[in-house]
Amino acid sequence: MSQDPTFRILGNAPSDRSERYEAYRREWDRRGTELDGSDHPVHVDLESVAVCDLRCGSSEEDPNGFCQIWTHEHIRKLGFNEHTYQKGYMDPRIYTVLLNQCADMGVSSIKLNYRGEPSLHPEIVSFVRQASDLGFPDIMMNTNGNGGARTYPELFAELVEAGITDLMFSVDAADAESYAKQRVGGEWDILLHSVNSAVTARAEGKSAPDCRIRASVVRTFLNAADVDSGRMEAFWKNEMGVDWMSISECYFPAGATHQWKAAEWASLSAAEFQCPDPFRRMVVTWDGKHTMPCCQGFTLEIDGGEVVSGAQSIREAWTSQNFDRLRNAHRDRTWDKDGKEGEPICRNCAVTKKPTPIAVEV
Ligand code: SF4
Ligand code: SF4
Repeated sequence: MSQDPTFRILGNAPSDRSERYEAYRREWDRRGTELDGSDHPVHVDLESVAVCDLRCGSSEEDPNGFCQIWTHEHIRKLGFNEHTYQKGYMDPRIYTVLLNQCADMGVSSIKLNYRGEPSLHPEIVSFVRQASDLGFPDIMMNTNGNGGARTYPELFAELVEAGITDLMFSVDAADAESYAKQRVGGEWDILLHSVNSAVTARAEGKSAPDCRIRASVVRTFLNAADVDSGRMEAFWKNEMGVDWMSISECYFPAGATHQWKAAEWASLSAAEFQCPDPFRRMVVTWDGKHTMPCCQGFTLEIDGGEVVSGAQSIREAWTSQNFDRLRNAHRDRTWDKDGKEGEPICRNCAVTKKPTPIAVEV
């Protein structure tokens, strides 16, 4: 097993969570270390929405930006409809069915997004509350901190009160000016209010005991100096009160030729890298029509099939031929080969690239 080379924590991760939470994290690590998919995933992304109010990355030099939502739009415009899927909101009835399946098969962690901005779903607070009532040790969400808070400023306080445990604000900047370039279409003041209201609700004891609030950053040419100098960390931790910070070393969707200027990327071989993700996590798209064995490909190249309309359960998708084929390619270290044994999606995936950060002068 290897760690995702594009991800790192700035400072320390929270170390004071419950034994129940720690036990699930040990199982998460074990799946990756032993390359054991068991008969169910540890974690499922239930894509509550596939829409967004921002257009991140569009001011970087790569005209596709780093956001997969917009990259899919781009792909669609080129006429490759079969390689992507449409935008939409998850039907609350589908959510309840899928969530209960997850609870019944022993899934520990749910994330309420894949691509897109989950706070735009009108039922998002109730989605978190349902997951909390079913007792999942981890209920996660990546958010841009705008979305639904544009019209309902206290939304993130309500999400904390509903029982979210890992709330990750994608911030990417330490001031309004660079935020406007980095998170295109986002309002800095709305983000600050959202973070502040979530941090305050937690400080007032209204959250689940394991709730921790994170600021996450995609390190790009625009913000690398703030990340490297410690300014980013100082702002979000000391001034805004988040618990911890994570950094993704730029990003590019599978198959895209990246033009990032903040890192050099080197391809890893199967001798150097076995991906842990297909052994522990999966994604269900907003319409329940597709399942994916990891979150990094952002294509439907490896699809475990539909999990609505009585087609099959999430557990059946987890043990589908396509998912098993991908696991075998990592267990047997053949994913980098040409031909039948190889997995082109893994060769193209950002996770099989090792970034070396480049210092950027301001
Ligand atoms: S907030 Fe997320 S989904 Fe929306 S444009 Fe930015 S990266 Fe994409
Ligand atoms: S596409 Fe391959 S390398 Fe990328 S996350 Fe999935 S399994 Fe891992």
